[in-house]
Amino acid sequence: METFKNETWRCPDCKRKLNKSNVKDWKCPNCDDTIWIMADVNGNRYVLERIKAKEIQKDDVILLDGMHSGEEVKKVKRFGKKIRIYFRKNPALTETSETFFNTIIGNWEPKD
Ligand SMILES: [Zn+2]
Repeated sequence: METFKNETWRCPDCKRKLNKSNVKDWKCPNCDDTIWIMADVNGNRYVLERIKAKEIQKDDVILLDGMHSGEEVKKVKRFGKKIRIYFRKNPALTETSETFFNTIIGNWEPKD
């Protein structure tokens, strides 16, 4: 899973700004909610959530490593501890269920 320069991390629940020292598994230490990551991906301002392969669902939009736009999930299949993710355009991927992925949940506007 790719990370980006100048990411900012915030909890959508308690609105707290977070950083490396207090985030574990991309969740808020207070709420246990999945945090929002504001990232600039080659000029695209995406709000990301980092979730495990086992949490990915049909119609989620995944930002695959090295890509600048999202890929829609067509189908997810489980094989024991592995997950196979089928995309609408990209070839399918097989990963362990604990592998993190960037999912795009929206866009953000920079503040002046
Ligand atoms: Zn929180």
